[in-house]
Amino acid sequence: MTLHKPENLPTHIQHFIDGKWTDSVSGKQFDVLEPVENSVYATAAAGQKEDVDLAVAAARRAFTDGPWPTLVPRQRSRVLHRIADLVEASDARLAELETFDTGLPITQALGQAQRAAENFRFFADLVVAQADDVYKVPGKQMNYVNRSPIGVAGLITPWNTPFMLESWKLAPALATGNTVVLKPAEFTPLSASLWAEIFREAGVPDGVFNLVNGIGEEAGDALVKHPDVPLISFTGESSTGSLIFGNAAPYLKGLSMELGGKSPAIVFADADFDAAIDATLFGVFSLNGERCTAGSRILVEQSIYDRFVEAYAARAEKIVVGPPHDPRTEVGALVHPEHYAKVLSYVELGRQEGRLVAGGDKPEGLEHGNYLRPTVFADVPSSARIFQEEIFGPVVAITPFTDDEEALSLANSVKYGLAAYIWTGDLRRAHNFASRVEAGMVWLNSNNVRDLRTPFGGVKASGLGHEGGYRSIDFYTNQQAVHITLGESHSVRFGTGV
Ligand code: NAD
Repeated sequence: MTLHKPENLPTHIQHFIDGKWTDSVSGKQFDVLEPVENSVYATAAAGQKEDVDLAVAAARRAFTDGPWPTLVPRQRSRVLHRIADLVEASDARLAELETFDTGLPITQALGQAQRAAENFRFFADLVVAQADDVYKVPGKQMNYVNRSPIGVAGLITPWNTPFMLESWKLAPALATGNTVVLKPAEFTPLSASLWAEIFREAGVPDGVFNLVNGIGEEAGDALVKHPDVPLISFTGESSTGSLIFGNAAPYLKGLSMELGGKSPAIVFADADFDAAIDATLFGVFSLNGERCTAGSRILVEQSIYDRFVEAYAARAEKIVVGPPHDPRTEVGALVHPEHYAKVLSYVELGRQEGRLVAGGDKPEGLEHGNYLRPTVFADVPSSARIFQEEIFGPVVAITPFTDDEEALSLANSVKYGLAAYIWTGDLRRAHNFASRVEAGMVWLNSNNVRDLRTPFGGVKASGLGHEGGYRSIDFYTNQQAVHITLGESHSVRFGTGV
């Protein structure tokens, strides 16, 4: 028995609209599964257009009538710091629930809960430190920028690290004075419902935060097509992003798109071999491989290729796959049977496209639930689907290269461009390679650790726009340029007949 049920687990998850818990107007619901036994543990209200309409109307009222958008930044900042305090104080409970709902290993879920608190703290500080430019032409003209919140932000989030990814949108949207409607992923609605009480306790006024659960094609779609929602921040698959882009086009909305990835980790022969092994294992197998920035293609220089593959496979075989709530577990259960089936289909494909050197099946003793041993395919050609397509599970493709040019062309040969990881002892090569690799974010001899001030986002099919630091503030605010002439105003005199 590997299922660990947290105490006081809700059996029904509702919407939260205008400060009140509520079911769908239609009464529709959907089942929520946990990933260890794939049993239904709760039902959730399935939001339809009319529920989204109510949530948007509440958010709109809170924006036009409420105090939130006009509070001075310090006042909103205090509330955001209280949110961070509350998240930190309940990190163990948050992690327990997140682990139960998503299958993420408990130690990693705890890290994500703490990161969620940090996101709030960061934007609480940033809005207070925020300065806007003033431009002067001495004695002639002055120009400055008025910054204001935009309105109701629609936030649509995926099921991997749901609570943390929600915080990443909620914190800057609220810090800048917008009101929000959050539509979390239908696979994992549990942790999103915790925001409501956290916000209430921290002093967020009713109507500022609204939550509508539901299926993407119903609740998500209604949010995207709502005329009173001028902003959509979306994180999810590239194909969904492109659909949303089209659906939002008639309304000319502000869109931020954080999409899929198939990021390369490039290991040169002059790299610190052991550090590269450690990082490339963690890079794809942490968070169950359900990580947008996973280094899921490892390109290895030919002269160390055999040694690398052997050492990598040996370590992958020793990764502890186990029940998500067990602190010894390094890889837990994949989120949902549908997603699990998709990942397994790639494993089957990989047996024809590459050479299986580790994993490929369920671990012993874990026959039920969505478990998969870390799976490593070597000698994978760039034409293979397991090289080109995002699998989003504990599966990695390893491919050899002979020189920098071949490594670069392999790295850039997929439609995605989210992250890249480069391992080399040669500084000049590292920087030159970084500037030519098609990726929104590059880590040189480093694991995926991100300073919250830096831009986050992908190129190509991995995203449009950037979030992170001031870029998030820019996305969630209007910037109005005000111009005044300080001396006489000189106009060409039309209509004077001279
Ligand atoms: P998904 O695209 O299936 O769903 C994401 C969200 O969009 C869910 O809330 C879903 O209900 C909603 N949705 C689906 N169809 C919709 C529609 N027609 N209109 C409006 N909303 C709709 O993605 P997923 O499977 O939940 O998440 C995994 C994907 O997310 C992977 O591709 C991963 O790489 C990506 N991801 C990207 C980042 C990043 O920052 N770039 C971070 C995490 C995850």
